[in-house]
Amino acid sequence: SKIEAGKMELENLDLDVRDVVGDALQVRAQDAWKKGLELIHRVRPDVPWRLRGDPGRLRQVLINLVGNAVKFTTQGEIEVLVSLEAATPTAATLHFAVRDTGIGIPVDKQGCIFESFRQADSSTTRQYGGTGLGLAISSQLAELMGGRIWVESEPGVGSTFHFTGVFELAEPIAPPAYPEPLRGLAALVVDDNPAQRAALADFLASCGMTATLAAEVDSALHACRLASERGESFDAAIVDADMGPALAAEIRRLPSHGDCRILMLAGLAAHADDTDGDAGQQVQWLAKPAKHSQLQQALITALTPADAATSSNTPRLSLESCRPLRILLAEDGEVNREVAVGFLEIGGHQVTTAENGREALTLLDQGEFDIVLMDVEMPEMDGMEAARAIRRKESGTGEHTPIIAMTAHAVQGYKERCLDAGMDGYITKPIWPEELFAALKAHAPAEGPTHIPTSAL
Ligand code: ADP
Repeated sequence: SKIEAGKMELENLDLDVRDVVGDALQVRAQDAWKKGLELIHRVRPDVPWRLRGDPGRLRQVLINLVGNAVKFTTQGEIEVLVSLEAATPTAATLHFAVRDTGIGIPVDKQGCIFESFRQADSSTTRQYGGTGLGLAISSQLAELMGGRIWVESEPGVGSTFHFTGVFELAEPIAPPAYPEPLRGLAALVVDDNPAQRAALADFLASCGMTATLAAEVDSALHACRLASERGESFDAAIVDADMGPALAAEIRRLPSHGDCRILMLAGLAAHADDTDGDAGQQVQWLAKPAKHSQLQQALITALTPADAATSSNTPRLSLESCRPLRILLAEDGEVNREVAVGFLEIGGHQVTTAENGREALTLLDQGEFDIVLMDVEMPEMDGMEAARAIRRKESGTGEHTPIIAMTAHAVQGYKERCLDAGMDGYITKPIWPEELFAALKAHAPAEGPTHIPTSAL
């Protein structure tokens, strides 16, 4: 109604389209992961990095379209592709395509779904819910951005929603300024998904790197051997973690590839046991879908010589940023629990789970732990109460088990309430690996365990 009353105005702010797309995909990542769908984002290298427009509204349209794509797809993948449609000296028209491999939409329904409260098939309301408003709003926002929205779809095959938008150029289009440590380096991409390979190739091109693409382990090793025969080597390899745990170590065992840095892209369900064999330090893990800025930073960190890296204060994105910890995770939501366990295990930690505060207290009475991750809202005994009970038990023992609160409440003052209850740190849900690992690093003791069972005291 705000749009229809002509009251919606777009902002004109700095906008990094790669970041906005990455954000939108990360918002939908858990839903996609639950359904086993691959999320891919591909931004053509000629799309300018620095634009001006309304990042919030652009994100809203993308979250909406990606949300629908996830909702109406049971297997396969969802790709957001961004390309440059036209450019003038002051503005760029971008074309966004959100492609899914879902149920599709019959041709005779493809027009009406953009109208308010319309769905392709009214019986889907029962199955999928929804209001029929998302596309109407997205379509108006696309128009406000100076573009339009449309769909191409085939029932049973999938749908691609397209929209365009005009954005101001924050600087004249010029030869790209590639990040210095990356320019001209050679990377190997190993992924069995062709769309993901293409997306990574475009990402590498926009960093000024060359890409060699391999769809399977054998061809990856073959490409490395060929390079070795020429006396060359890949500076980095970006490897889908599903392609096999040992590949990292195998690449690095090949002649001249001892220094190859490996970036492992892991689905949320990957496990630390699948990790790097003896490749150890040279492997960095990133959770999918990683934003391009995160990928780029991870490559810069990996490829900056060690002495330069310590003098710069670029944050390390490695998930293995602190020693392996014994973690007690109290979280009642099954999905959040699985996500957190997935991340923690990728980071090499050992996790024990509890479904409420009372269970957490019982487990603490029985075992040794270095740190506790405590959901605040839980049935039976919530996190606040459990934290107070832990501190009461510890009083006078000199023991202090670090407790990190996890909560969906981002309201002001909430953090103080957690700290008052005796917690040491605070992260917000949905859980993202960088925040989680930063909190662990900040609060985990240098040596453990901090908690020994009360029975042993
Ligand atoms: P809602 O999803 O709340 O019903 P939308 O306006 O976002 O509302 O979508 C309208 C209708 O368009 C949906 O109910 C569905 O029938 C159809 N639709 C939208 N996106 C897709 C998609 N990716 N695949 C199949 N059908 C879709």
